[in-house]
Amino acid sequence: MKSWGAIIVGAGIIGLALAIELNKQGLRVLVVEKGEPGREASWAAGGMLVDSPAETRRELQELAKASARMYPEFVHELQDESGLKIDLRSQGTLLLSRAETRQSPGGTQQAHDSPLSLAELEPALQELDLQELDLQAGQGDATRFTAQFLQERCVDPRDLTAAAVAAARHRGIDFSSGDHVLDVEVADGKACGVRTNKTRFAAGVVVNCAGAWAGQIGPHPFPTRPVKGQMLCVVMPEKEMVRHVVRAPEVYLIPRSDGRMLIGATSEEAGFDKRVVPETILKLRQ
Ligand SMILES: Cc1cc2nc3c(=O)[nH]c(=O)nc-3n(C[C@H](O)[C@H](O)[C@H](O)COP(=O)(O)OP(=O)(O)OC[C@H]3O[C@@H](n4cnc5c(N)ncnc54)[C@H](O)[C@@H]3O)c2cc1C
Repeated sequence: MKSWGAIIVGAGIIGLALAIELNKQGLRVLVVEKGEPGREASWAAGGMLVDSPAETRRELQELAKASARMYPEFVHELQDESGLKIDLRSQGTLLLSRAETRQSPGGTQQAHDSPLSLAELEPALQELDLQELDLQAGQGDATRFTAQFLQERCVDPRDLTAAAVAAARHRGIDFSSGDHVLDVEVADGKACGVRTNKTRFAAGVVVNCAGAWAGQIGPHPFPTRPVKGQMLCVVMPEKEMVRHVVRAPEVYLIPRSDGRMLIGATSEEAGFDKRVVPETILKLRQ
């Protein structure tokens, strides 16, 4: 049986990045992917590189900060090795939160003053009724938002995964696509390879990077679950009409440098159902 230094199960951004890193350290690496490399969550994502303490669980904050710091160099290396361009934007994010409201003497709700002027930062949004960004608000609700500027980057995940696959191939990393790993094989208490629906591969190291499916691979299943997200992609009337990522409580806008803008995303407990539901997309569009 052919043998590798390391086998990575799953060619999402996690598996690809790890495969490249292990290859740099001199290991012969095989990536086993049940479908096509880079076409699951890592392809569908928005690409916001979030590290703000308000939105990151405390135990993950250090990791999120370190990861966000390393991203420009990571992207630069992938571009160099793949020859492909990756859209990495550093314009920052406007984080909108529902303003605390207080009862005015007249009995109507008022918002505290916004610390930043959204109209100055994103003139295109000044005409927008921000209530539209509040899917929870009912007709006539007077929700106000405060805007906070975050020095955060955002990447186009499709560029990123395509470049990571090309860079990995360029480095001589092997791929076995359309090959479904059923279990990790263990000898003397140590991983020694994988069994797939087609064959077996041997390696001294096996890393399960199978994302939402990771828990399905034996012999030691651990709890993972998929969370479904649907989003809408529109073309802006002019490139850079919206420059910042805009994140409101129920919806976010992610501009891309080619003039597209993503409006996302739902967060649904729908198992592995990947169908796009027209009614949901319409709701995002309104
Ligand atoms: C709509 C949406 C928007 C998102 N937006 C953001 C965002 O803005 N910012 C952010 O940081 N994150 C975002 N995420 C989350 C992000 O996409 C994931 O955290 C990330 O892509 C996970 O990468 P991964 O490599 O672990 O998983 P995946 O990309 O899913 O890769 C796992 C791979 O393993 C393969 N695989 C599974 N089982 C097997 C098996 N048995 N044998 C062989 N191969 C197998 C799969 O086919 C897949 O290719 C978003 C997710 C969604 C759905």
